[in-house]
Amino acid sequence: MRASRFFIATHKEVPAEAEVASHRLMLRASLIRRLAAGIYTWLPLGHRVLRKVETIVREEMDRAGAIEMAMPVVQPGELWQASGRWHAYGPELLRFKDRHEREFVLQPTSEEVITELARSELKSYRRLPAHFYQLQTKFRDERRPRFGILRGREFVMKDGYSFHADYADLQREYDNMHATYTRIFTRLGLRFRAVAADTGAIGGTGSHEFHVLADSGEDAIAFCPGSDYAANVELAEAVAAAQRPEGKEPRRKVATPGVKTIADLCKLLQLPFEKTVKTLVYEGKDSLVALVLRGDHEMNETKTSKLAAIATPLRQASEEAVRRAFGAGFGSLGPVGAADVKLVVDRSADALADFVCGANEDGQHFTGVNWARDVSAPVEVADIRNVVAGDPSPDGKGTLEIVRGIEVGHIFQLRTKYSEAMAATFLNEAGDARPFEMGCYGIGVTRAVAAAIEQNHDERGIVFPAPIAPFEVCVVPIGYAKSDKVRASADALYDALAAAGVDVLLDDREERPGVLFADMDLIGIPHRLVLSERGLAAGSVEYKARRDGTPRDVPIGHAVSFLKERLAAA
Ligand code: ATP
Ligand code: MG
Repeated sequence: MRASRFFIATHKEVPAEAEVASHRLMLRASLIRRLAAGIYTWLPLGHRVLRKVETIVREEMDRAGAIEMAMPVVQPGELWQASGRWHAYGPELLRFKDRHEREFVLQPTSEEVITELARSELKSYRRLPAHFYQLQTKFRDERRPRFGILRGREFVMKDGYSFHADYADLQREYDNMHATYTRIFTRLGLRFRAVAADTGAIGGTGSHEFHVLADSGEDAIAFCPGSDYAANVELAEAVAAAQRPEGKEPRRKVATPGVKTIADLCKLLQLPFEKTVKTLVYEGKDSLVALVLRGDHEMNETKTSKLAAIATPLRQASEEAVRRAFGAGFGSLGPVGAADVKLVVDRSADALADFVCGANEDGQHFTGVNWARDVSAPVEVADIRNVVAGDPSPDGKGTLEIVRGIEVGHIFQLRTKYSEAMAATFLNEAGDARPFEMGCYGIGVTRAVAAAIEQNHDERGIVFPAPIAPFEVCVVPIGYAKSDKVRASADALYDALAAAGVDVLLDDREERPGVLFADMDLIGIPHRLVLSERGLAAGSVEYKARRDGTPRDVPIGHAVSFLKERLAAA
């Protein structure tokens, strides 16, 4: 490709609305342009990257035995009513009516359509197993579209769905996809980790997320360096670090005027956070639910939502309701004497003795509190907090560390959730109708592009992993318009590279060399060859890798073979 005939429209200015590196750099490097909130045009440069990611995904899915197809973007509302998701999906599902007042949705995902297809096409066990996938535009009306391409409203997903006669076969395909996703993200040149994930209402252990590791990631991942344990913090089990010690102190009431937070309390009483507990109040199915956690711990919404007593969706109780039940407002609540509420105590709070908590009287706290002696109401002990670095690993093989990640893939054992809801059955060998065992497998294709940039950039711009760079190599001639020698050599080198199958960009634009260099660095092309009159006089071109940055001279006659070697080594 010749840059003069391509579309490069880089910017120096840092766009004000962009909070994260990938968003800033994708705008500056002219990979994308914003059309509306969470909706972007993929400009030619960005589009080349997207195509490369799609190609790798497609090759590996085909290799794994899945079959590509394309389902409609517009889906009838009735299908969503049949699966029960018309109501369950909430406002992320974009709905509209056609001219006949019939309800439609823009697909956020395709379980309904594929299950409907399986019901009519996969009628016999002889058709099973089957795995269909598509690479296609999705729409989710996200509450907060942000971070550019990372959380868009319109985005491209690879979504695959598999159908099986029994659970064992679903597990086989699930493992096949786990291995396939590992190959895909390795080929994309990303540093990533597969982690156990929440399965929501379906339960069981059948879900993994694939995360690109990056400090800007929205998700926290807990892993154990001493074993292969890794889980999303949403799911990672928190085990209490120690047995509860013997209580020694008498209970005392202390005045704590103006104390609203654990930080206030610890400052006033000169206490470490881990000697205190905090009490959070949520609406329950029958009564309010008081969650008691150690002062330094954070409540985990995913775990809390699964408590039998808690109302769905999770809602904090109002100050009024709290006052009625506890006789005090937020800031002075505690488990001592709490009647008419359900008490759920986190494992680590349960392991405390002689702790400090609110006295259920405004401006008063208790010190020296002990569970058995001071709390008469029945207590449910549960895991309701986020793990933190240094917690014991649930597999007993060391302590946890926390890193941040961007979810780029998700594999899930759906089991018979959709086949039962939509009465999608096949006839087994004995002639009995059975619901399909199903799996689903997603990759955020557009998000993977942005995640790659989050993980690979520096002060000069994007540092694309070679397999997904918009071009593998750029040839930058100094004085292309002025020097016949430079032009002839650059054209010849460009032709030779292209003929050797190298994906090369010749930057023949009439700009100062500084502008060309800055653009090629910003766009993140992995390999650069510079031709100048001076270099050519010495028979050489200058080579520089985007990542390491030390230039070196290469004899012009060896430039093609030298580059082929570099590309093969990457
Ligand atoms: P998230 O928790 O980030 O909202 P999700 O759990 O809703 O993701 P899935 O329904 O599992 O996502 O979709 C499969 C994949 O699609 C995700 O792993 C992610 O890579 C991608 N994806 C989901 N939502 C978006 C979005 N708003 N923008 C870009 N990619 C997305
Ligand atoms: Mg989502």
